[in-house]
Amino acid sequence: MPEAILQAREPAPRVGPNAVIQLAGALRDSLGAQAARELFGNAGLQRFLIEPPGEMVDEVLAARLFGCVFADLPAVTAAAVAAEAGTRTADYILANRIPTPAQSVLRALPPALAGPLLLAAIAKNAWTFAGSGTLRTDNARGRSGSGKSGPLWVIEITDNPLAMPGCAWHSAVFRRLFEVLVDPAVAVCHPACCHAGAEACRFEIARR
Ligand SMILES: [Zn+2]
Repeated sequence: MPEAILQAREPAPRVGPNAVIQLAGALRDSLGAQAARELFGNAGLQRFLIEPPGEMVDEVLAARLFGCVFADLPAVTAAAVAAEAGTRTADYILANRIPTPAQSVLRALPPALAGPLLLAAIAKNAWTFAGSGTLRTDNARGRSGSGKSGPLWVIEITDNPLAMPGCAWHSAVFRRLFEVLVDPAVAVCHPACCHAGAEACRFEIARR
């Protein structure tokens, strides 16, 4: 029975709605409402502009939107828009998902202690960032891209469903969260990427 087959299907893997909502805002403010309409239209998802998703979104649809951003816009513009959407997503998380007392505690701690706590919170809310991918975190010591040694916070997403060139969205989300809660002078390196054929997207966060 087709109906029975439908009922037996697993629900589609989902990511947080901000992957879509904040992309719409970033596009509108960077390129104008018309450009946002065209891009969402090209993805066949104009409905998300008319009625922003109120709950988690099928990760395939979110990935399709980012795919259109990179297909339709010059690479530098696409990366800037994706990064702006990521920064806005982090700001939403800071305003709505992390209680103010917890934020105060993190800010008061030295980065070497706050970093692992933020990594643990990110791992606990992996669905927001990773959908069907597998997110793991690691605390290490090492050299950042700038060559300074110190704490190196690592986030890996195996089979990242929202992988895109340079993963500007994820890099911006993680950078903003670490900047605000751990150390205002962090940078994010992205040395391995699913979009470039790697098994996992690897993000290394360290002091600039
Ligand atoms: Zn990547």
